[in-house]
Amino acid sequence: EAKKAGRGEQLIFNDAMNAATKDGLVIDGALRGAIEANEFYLVYQAITNSHTGKLTKVEALLRWNSSLLGPVSPDRFIPVAEDSGMIIPLGTWVLDQACRQMAHWKQSVLDDVTISINVSAWQLAAPDFVALVSQALIRNGLSPHQLELELTERVLIEDAANVQAVLAQLRALGVGISLDDFGTGYSSLSYLTQFHLNTLKIDRAFVMDIEHSERSNNLVHAIIAMGHSLGLQLVAEGVETAGQAAILEKMGCHYLQGYHISRPISPDELLRFADDRAGRAPAPYSDYAI
Ligand code: C2E
Ligand code: MG
Ligand code: MG
Ligand code: MG
Repeated sequence: EAKKAGRGEQLIFNDAMNAATKDGLVIDGALRGAIEANEFYLVYQAITNSHTGKLTKVEALLRWNSSLLGPVSPDRFIPVAEDSGMIIPLGTWVLDQACRQMAHWKQSVLDDVTISINVSAWQLAAPDFVALVSQALIRNGLSPHQLELELTERVLIEDAANVQAVLAQLRALGVGISLDDFGTGYSSLSYLTQFHLNTLKIDRAFVMDIEHSERSNNLVHAIIAMGHSLGLQLVAEGVETAGQAAILEKMGCHYLQGYHISRPISPDELLRFADDRAGRAPAPYSDYAI
């Protein structure tokens, strides 16, 4: 088919490829020195109990305001940082920063909240990862059950044996392990029991259509039922409407995350959000227990 493509199309294709490569190189260059230049910061997104509305977990999300490129989204710079190895120091920075923020929050009201951090395959594969995590906890006076690491299905596939051992050590410490973007990857269901997970995050792609597509609705229902039977906590990602929240609560999804609950916000804004939710009365109806 490629041969049949006209000269014009071929050129456009090549230009697009060049643009993508160039984009990566430009980002790669701009990433160098960005930690030292304080160009990164974290924003925090609330994860609430679907029944009571109370704040339960907070996901830390990385932001980069490049002096050269302006704001760059993590979907663009994380893959580049993974390719260059920069994700190792960057991931360590995120871990430390998030733990410090959590330690600060603990002194105010958020002492029964868990902080969730996204972790790349490369970080898990580093020989000192478990030590790094436990040092960050100790340094900041946090207990391990206050930290949860979010992994994608890709992480589980890449170096299965080693990953399994690392996750076992982390779980033994008391750190939570959450499987992010569940349903979009390539993993087999056997991963759910093989690895030491305690939370499944149902990907936004399924939650999005839950009100209007019977297929998505059935799929989410099945994921939740499976999660319950495996004793996993369930978080729905990308909850954008009250209708979705109501359906998910009724299906027995324990926790909700998405713009309907809150956008990713600053630490101060998150404190206000938590205050707001602390006094909230339980929802009138629920037919499940966590
Ligand atoms: P993720 O971990 O699945 O995070 C959820 C993403 O969905 C975030 O995008 C969040 O802002 C967005 N989101 C949350 N609620 C809604 C909603 O209701 N609707 C829509 N449309 N989007 C919603 P963000 O912050 O751009 O991050 C994208 C991805 O980049 C993350 O996906 C995660 O895989 C990665 N990432 C972010 N921070 C880090 C980090 O510190 N380390 C690593 N390794 N990856 C990170
Ligand atoms: Mg995540
Ligand atoms: Mg996700
Ligand atoms: Mg994602």
